[in-house]
Amino acid sequence: MRTQRQVVDYSLQKRAVLRELLAGRVGTYDVCDASPYLKNAARFHGDPTDRRCPICRSENLTLVHYIYGDELKQSAGQARTLAELPVLAMTLREFQVFVVEVCLGCDWNHLVEQYLLGRDGLAADSDGTGEQDAAGAEGAGRRRREAQR
Ligand SMILES: [Zn+2]
Repeated sequence: MRTQRQVVDYSLQKRAVLRELLAGRVGTYDVCDASPYLKNAARFHGDPTDRRCPICRSENLTLVHYIYGDELKQSAGQARTLAELPVLAMTLREFQVFVVEVCLGCDWNHLVEQYLLGRDGLAADSDGTGEQDAAGAEGAGRRRREAQR
């Protein structure tokens, strides 16, 4: 997504949990503890993937995108589908997205990544190399498009 920034990837932590599980230092009941709320969010607002659950290997994982931020007001903390995020990103200045993977078969769940979305990311974008060729046709085109907003 164009305004995506400050991405934090939690795949290392996830691998560590899976290693602990494999070594028998934690049980599946410790890691397969998705709450009813999380499972409902996965059912109604989740995005299916074609990746198998690393625990039960019988169901595909579902991704749930939770959104947080002052501008969201009462919507803060709700789950949104991936398709809804670009619209929000153009409407709001900044909000945080937490992506959680869930298995609806065995209740495995883990935070996958977090990042910021929102229009503030566009401003940072135009501070980049784009402005250096402002004399060129591309720069002029960009200024026109901005003027039309
Ligand atoms: Zn599973």
